[in-house]
Amino acid sequence: CAAAVLVVRHRMKTSGKWGRAMAILKEFEEKCGTPDGKLRQVADAMDVEMHAGLASEGGSKLKMLISYVDNLPSGDEAGLFYALDLGGTNFRVLRVHLGGKEKGVINQEFEEVSIPPHLMIGSSEGLFDFIASALAKFVSSEPEEFHPPPGRQRELGFTFSFPVRQTSIASGTLIKWTKGFNIEDVVGEDVVGELTKSMQKIGLDMRVSALVNDTIGTLAGGRFYNQDVIAAVILGTGTNAAYVERANAIPKWHGPLPKSGDMVINMEWGNFRSSHLPLTEYDIALDTESLNPGEQIFEKLISGMYLGDIVRRALLKMAEEADFFGDTVPPKLKVPFILRTPDMSAMHHDTTPDLKVVGNKLKDILEISNTSLKMRKTVVELCDIVATRGARLAAAGILGILKKTGRDTVKAGEKQQKTVIALDGGLYEHYTKFRACLESTLNELLEEEVAKSIVIEHSNDGSGIGAALLAASHSQYLGVDES
Ligand code: BGC
Ligand code: MG
Repeated sequence: CAAAVLVVRHRMKTSGKWGRAMAILKEFEEKCGTPDGKLRQVADAMDVEMHAGLASEGGSKLKMLISYVDNLPSGDEAGLFYALDLGGTNFRVLRVHLGGKEKGVINQEFEEVSIPPHLMIGSSEGLFDFIASALAKFVSSEPEEFHPPPGRQRELGFTFSFPVRQTSIASGTLIKWTKGFNIEDVVGEDVVGELTKSMQKIGLDMRVSALVNDTIGTLAGGRFYNQDVIAAVILGTGTNAAYVERANAIPKWHGPLPKSGDMVINMEWGNFRSSHLPLTEYDIALDTESLNPGEQIFEKLISGMYLGDIVRRALLKMAEEADFFGDTVPPKLKVPFILRTPDMSAMHHDTTPDLKVVGNKLKDILEISNTSLKMRKTVVELCDIVATRGARLAAAGILGILKKTGRDTVKAGEKQQKTVIALDGGLYEHYTKFRACLESTLNELLEEEVAKSIVIEHSNDGSGIGAALLAASHSQYLGVDES
């Protein structure tokens, strides 16, 4: 996870095919460079955009969405609640039994269902009917002792991990899709309304009592276990962050000042953009050919949906312009998204002396056989360049949040407060080198005194539990009885 670029690891010939391939690699590495100075500029720009997004609706590329969560879990939440987590290639349904301060989370069960790809680009009805029926099936396995008494509805926390303009804690309209979803007739609609329609159709009597982004769920889930959690970051198929803001520092908020004085903000940082971002020709082509050109530029540099495809694009260029894989360009290399980030990660972490894993991946996925060790090493290097850039930019984003919340410096005469940031998402969880690079970069960017007070914590599946917790704290039966 080196900050500096221009480390030329191969003895470079200036001519010949191999030399040309190395020149392409080197140019790519230079353009992807993220020296500390650049990261600080990115963090400063993030801080500036955060202010602008809070000042007025549409004031920034950063939407800084108001979540209507002004009270994070206290630990008193109790009862049986459902949660639904939709946001990537899978969705999950959960049943969480909360036992208050004494018992915490007594039990949780979940089921994961993969979303048939055609439903991700089909109709609203198709998607929500599918979700509702999976939910109904899951509810039917509810142990009898937990059946609600007659007249009482089951309650659900709905984690919907796309940009939503909330109109209350339990309603909100979809601003746009991200991450490969593209169902036009949902845009502008209340997603809770859509889900509720589908539930009613099949006679599933359940009320959505909280609609939350996955970052908000993760923040809530993290806070349940640790009161020092002030922000959450997702690094998965997509990327985003949420944090606790002072309500009186949100000029665009015209509602009543919450008792807590706080309001959780869904930044939608995936849509951040700045002239300081190290964009290459591959990133620009990826964006142009994507489902959402011009949008989610930060996300396209960082998140799991895209990293593998950036590597593929660089390899394709080397194949086309320097015969990197021989006289012909391997046809599979032209297939968008064929090289997935988990495969990239497997190649990047290959510890076999002859890079067998890399060889097998190239053969199995791209149908490229007979690669030399030198070639396989180059592939690993490409993975390293792309992952390092993404991880270091994510660290810069976190520094931006620390700046905005005044936690990036030591205040004279004050005891340094502890700051915990909850992280989740498959990229963070499974891509070890990415995670290590993110963490070391953040340390590198902070003064030692400050670095000691900041902790990154993996909040495993916090967003599901978090949604259930928020469903509990926004239950329609609160105060009616003690369940
Ligand atoms: C979405 C966010 C979400 C993030 C992580 C992004 O594409 O816009 O709402 O939090 O992915 O799932
Ligand atoms: Mg998720």
